Amino acid sequence: MSKFQFDLHKTDGRARTGTIHTPRGEIRTPAFMPVGTAATVKAMLPESVRATGADILLGNTYHLMLRPTAERIDRLGGLHRFMNWERPILTDSGGFQVMSLAGLRKLTEHGVTFKSHIDGSKHELTPERSMEIQRLLGSDIVMCFDECPALPADKNRIAESMELSMRWAKRSREAFGDRPGHALFGIQQGGLEEDLRGQSAQALQDIGFEGYAVGGLAVGEGQEAMFGCLDYAPEQLPVDKPRYLMGVGKPDDIVGAVKRGIDMMDCVLPSRSGRTGQCFTRHGVVNIKNARHSDDPRPLDAACTCPACSNYSRAYLHHVFRAQEMISGMLLTWHNLHYFQELMSDMRAAIAAGTFAQFEAKFHADRAQGDIEPL
Ligand SMILES: [Zn+2]
Repeated sequence: MSKFQFDLHKTDGRARTGTIHTPRGEIRTPAFMPVGTAATVKAMLPESVRATGADILLGNTYHLMLRPTAERIDRLGGLHRFMNWERPILTDSGGFQVMSLAGLRKLTEHGVTFKSHIDGSKHELTPERSMEIQRLLGSDIVMCFDECPALPADKNRIAESMELSMRWAKRSREAFGDRPGHALFGIQQGGLEEDLRGQSAQALQDIGFEGYAVGGLAVGEGQEAMFGCLDYAPEQLPVDKPRYLMGVGKPDDIVGAVKRGIDMMDCVLPSRSGRTGQCFTRHGVVNIKNARHSDDPRPLDAACTCPACSNYSRAYLHHVFRAQEMISGMLLTWHNLHYFQELMSDMRAAIAAGTFAQFEAKFHADRAQGDIEPL
């Protein structure tokens, strides 16, 4: 299929399952996107990431524009060829990471100027420049350039920021141009204010996008507040377009977001945690550096089919983590990504079967049970 198209197959409550068709392959939703910040999912070969079940990766505009630069990646044939991942790639706009450089940036109507965290050199990001960079990278799903205020913030500040983001969304749409097979996603803002979220959703629909993100969440507001917002925000967006919740999250955040109508998510958590010895399992988080694992011949999770669980003991995983061997980050990242993708796969199956409520009950019951008892 040469077009970008979303087919919604089934809903169960507000949870949805479908397929995003792109020229580079299908994305099964709900989808979890591993983060490949600097043109790599750290500690993983691209074919290994694919083996965990990932249909799409996320790349970071901010990092890639500074090093090795979008122009260099373009000269070398684009990001897919550069990093050896032929399937779909979504790139963020760079906005979120630039905004979080607090002291190092200056914000105007035109855009943001900032200093590189690598060498202090000065750069500018505008809606137009962000679209150009994401085009040079060859991204399949491009995100609008937006501003996201840190929460909590007062309502006037959130409203002003949202309105600026909507003006930038219009400029992003105009700069994106006509690119068949590629998609531009608008980003809803408005903090935790239902009326502002509604105004933002309307402004974006007036412009028209191939997909819509719920932005400005997972920025420190807590799960209860985030779910409170997700009780209305996704429903303010078009039913026939993919809905993407940016930067989420922990497994229970993901399940709660899918329950509330989200189709796509991304987070560094499974890969980052793989390098710090935190392992996500059906029974909650296992900290492999804990001494209780040092003599334990059992797998991390007996039911998991990933290489770490199929071929190695907790004692081995504990040893290589303590010894700071590279295989530690490799195995634990693989396990975590496998766990996240299996969670998505189980949710897709449950929604298709109309059994999401039973899935959710079992998900929470398994976690409440906790890790296996020490030997
Ligand atoms: Zn595993």
